[in-house]
Amino acid sequence: MPALDSQIAIAVIGAGAMGSGIAQVAAQAGHPVFLHDQREGAAEAGRASIAKQLQRRVDQGKMEQPALDALINRIQPVSALAEVASAGLVIEAIVENLDIKRGLLSNLEDLCGDDTILATNTSSISITALGAQMKRPQRLVGMHFFNPAPLMALVEVVLGLATDKTVAETVHATASNWGKKPVYATSTPGFIVNRVARPFYAESLRLVQEQAADPATLDALMREAGNFRMGAFELTDLIGHDVNYAVTNSVFNAYFQDSRFLPSLIQQELVEAGRLGRKNGQGFYSYR
Ligand code: NAD
Repeated sequence: MPALDSQIAIAVIGAGAMGSGIAQVAAQAGHPVFLHDQREGAAEAGRASIAKQLQRRVDQGKMEQPALDALINRIQPVSALAEVASAGLVIEAIVENLDIKRGLLSNLEDLCGDDTILATNTSSISITALGAQMKRPQRLVGMHFFNPAPLMALVEVVLGLATDKTVAETVHATASNWGKKPVYATSTPGFIVNRVARPFYAESLRLVQEQAADPATLDALMREAGNFRMGAFELTDLIGHDVNYAVTNSVFNAYFQDSRFLPSLIQQELVEAGRLGRKNGQGFYSYR
């Protein structure tokens, strides 16, 4: 299947870390982009943060100011969900919660035309389960970007049991056009990357709980001896502990509470304390 033409509007729902990054990627590829968030002012703030990031590239001489202005003008923050109705592809990047995502998908089905592809950036929730209450689950597909979306090449294109193969192929081709490296995955808990990553986070957290080493030592060790780009603690601070903890719980429950995927008390405590990581200035490390 061919990729979506760059004239076709893309809608991104949720203007947090991921939604803003995805909006930037789509606008960079020339699409008009609607950016919606239920929190007042969040879509505008998302667009402003994209402009701020790109301004650095302009200041470094890596991008022309008119290109930045054109890109930012292609992103339109919209306050009502109904305003995304004309999009050819809607990518949701809202909170990692099955019921809330189902509610949004049901509203989108009512608003959008039959040909609109509905994609979810969920990290771990079953595409099959998300589609189960939809009128047309064939058009639902996982389009799982990694953080930060403008920099990370990988995109998992995830098929639920009902996903139409041609819908997945269109999303795969579109991600390629956007300069990404898409891979197909099935709707197994955590898909591919979040499955592989679970033991990395879980064992790092267990080492801290057992007082084998502190987060800074383990992060430095993974970077310097393991050649990882980031250790588990700086990475989960970047992801956001609310998001990472929700993903761990989701994979744990999806695997019938298999102890391999047991969530960490340390991470639960961080979430309860509101120490969500970089996004609010404090996680394992302070960013203030
Ligand atoms: P975030 O908390 O930064 O942003 C979520 C945004 O969604 C918030 O601005 C919130 O106001 C908005 N929102 C919540 N419910 C909404 C609704 N019903 N309608 C409209 N907007 C709503 O979260 P994030 O890190 O951007 O994660 C978003 C999604 O992407 C999750 O499903 C997460 O699992 C997935 N994801 C996250 C990462 C990561 O590293 N953070 C990576 C890949 C995928």
